[in-house]
Formats: sequence, structure tokens, C-alpha cells
Amino acid sequence: MAENNSNTIEERDLLILGSGPAGLSAALYAARAELMPLLLTGMILHGQASTTDTIENYPGFPEGVGGSELGQLFQTQAERFGAEIVMDMATSVDLRQRPFVIKTYSKEYRAKSLIISTGASPKKLDVPGEKALTGRGVSYCGTCDGWFFKDKDIVLVGGGDSALEEGLFLTRFARSVTIIHRRDSLRAGALLQKRAFANPKIKFIWDSVVTEIIGDDAVKAVRIKNLKTNQESIQETSAVFVTIGHRPNSELFVDQLELDELGYIKVDKYMHTNIPGVFAGGEIADPHYRQVITSAGMGAAAAIEATRYLENLEDTE
Ligand code: NAP
Repeated sequence: MAENNSNTIEERDLLILGSGPAGLSAALYAARAELMPLLLTGMILHGQASTTDTIENYPGFPEGVGGSELGQLFQTQAERFGAEIVMDMATSVDLRQRPFVIKTYSKEYRAKSLIISTGASPKKLDVPGEKALTGRGVSYCGTCDGWFFKDKDIVLVGGGDSALEEGLFLTRFARSVTIIHRRDSLRAGALLQKRAFANPKIKFIWDSVVTEIIGDDAVKAVRIKNLKTNQESIQETSAVFVTIGHRPNSELFVDQLELDELGYIKVDKYMHTNIPGVFAGGEIADPHYRQVITSAGMGAAAAIEATRYLENLEDTE
């Protein structure tokens, strides 16, 4: 999408960036505080959680709830109290000016306060063939793309909770799922490990990394290197699912906000960034928990703090 240089300027008390659990919870709380918040959804409506097949650990849903269904419920609840949700994304921000200036593809916004909940994106392997074959067998979302590989043999890279969750989900479609992990023990929690080891469709290749993805118009194989023996081998596969963690979507804030060494926005326990009036919540500020419930809690806290900030601002104006 090209940036639109339209001169339309809209002023707001509070702008929220991102439509995952943090952003939508912030929108709900801010709407109920009558701040009339405007939320820009970003590229992925309802965030990463919406690409999860079933969320089993969000309280209130004892049988689990679909990721996209939960996202829609969050949105409906926020809108019911007056939050305005717009399909657009920030292309630049200027936090040195007040009000803050946020440009999008179609508009320029001026906001007295800002909540950033732009989340994180899947990390890439950065190996030959990955980019060219993305969408042709290379995928970062099993829930989205698993269906295309019915009765196929597929490969998945990673050893954390996401890898095993995705791997287990993919066994619904695939004939076999080979999980390639760079160490000889998994990072994932015990329950997921137990389920994965018990699943006859899942195999593991330990101490190994993918060094190349091979194919022309579709994935055909991966080149694998054993890190202990340095031996290389080729494994035929119809797909490569990459689930090796995430990186924060904080590019817009480099040189404007304090970030940690991994690029996550630094916040105090009240979701304040180093700039008064700018708050952050959810995975953009949390490399540690990254759960729907913790993100939702951070978003709610950010909105409560933004409400207090705007009240104080009014008193001093
Ligand atoms: P993660 O815990 O950071 O795991 C990433 C995995 O990918 C690790 O096993 C890591 O190997 C491997 N890895 C990283 N870079 C790699 C590379 N360049 N090449 C090959 N392998 C690489 O990420 P995650 O699984 O996405 O989980 C993120 C957070 O969300 C965690 O806190 C997790 O508990 C949480 N989560 C929870 C649930 C749940 O509760 N059901 C579900 C999903 C995620 P090493 O182990 O060697 O570092």
C-alpha cells in the first residue's frame, strides 16, 4: 500500500494502535470512560491471537473459544460502548510534537494521548528459498494454511509452545509432521510435550537446523544440518511451517521511545512509556508472558492510565 498524502487531519483525545487483545481491551475501557477512542486496527485484524484455532486458557470459556471468534467478541464489546474501530495502520508517528502526530495510509491524526499495542510478528529463518517460497509452502501460521496440506508430509521448525501447538493442530490435516529443533530438548511446556510425544503423526529431528528451503513454484524439500555432527541431509516435504518466536512491531518508535535490547517498548508497571501521555500494552511491551489474558490486562491498565493522564491534562489546561 502506498502512503496517501491526503491533508485530512482529525483530532482525538486518545488514539490506540493495534487490534489484538491489548488494543481492544484498551478501547473497551477508554470507551467506558467516555474518551471516544479511535483504534487503528493494523494489518492483522484482531492480532496474532485471531490466527489461533482454539484458545483454551482464556477464562470464561471452559470449552475453549476460536481465536477469531474471541477477537470479534472483544471488538463488538468495545464498539457497544462507543469505541471507533478503523481498518488502517500508522505509517509514521511524531511523539516530539504535542498533540502527537500519527499518519496513516489515508489520514493524519493529532492525539493528546496514545496507546501502542502493535504486537509482534513471526521471526523468519533467513535461509535461501524462504522468501521466494513464502505462500508456496512456507508459512508462519498453521491455523491459516494447514488445510492446504491434507495428507501431505510436512516440516515444522521450532521447539517452543507455539511450535508444538501448531504441530498438533497440523496433524489434523497432514499425513506426518516432522518437527526440526535446534537442541535435544524442547522449550515448550510439559502438557504440550506430552501431547506431541503421544501423537503418532509427529516425529522429531533433534539438534538440527534448516539451512535451505528447496523448490521452484512450490516447496519440495529442506536441507537440514545436524549441529552436533555437521552432517547435511535433504528431507522431502510439501510445506515448511516456521514457528521460532516473534519480534516486536516497534519500527515506528525507534529513536522516539525507549526500547529494550530486543526492540520491545519499555514500560513501567503502570504501562507508562518514557514519554508522558504515551502508553503501551500487550506483546509490544511484553516479551515474557504473551498471553491473551495478560495482553488484555495490560491494555485495560493502559486505558485507565490514559484516562487519568487526560483528566490531569484538562485540569492544567
Ligand atoms: P519461544 O518460546 O521463544 O520458542 C521459540 C523456539 O524456536 C525455541 O524452541 C527456539 O529454540 C526456536 N528458535 C528460535 N530461533 C530459532 C532459529 N533461528 N532457528 C531455529 N530455531 C529457533 O516462542 P513461542 O513458542 O512462539 O512462544 C512465545 C511465548 O508465548 C512463550 O512465552 C510461550 O510460553 C507463549 N505461548 C504460550 C502458549 C500456551 O500457553 N498454550 C502457546 C503459544 C505460545 P531454543 O529452545 O533453542 O531457544
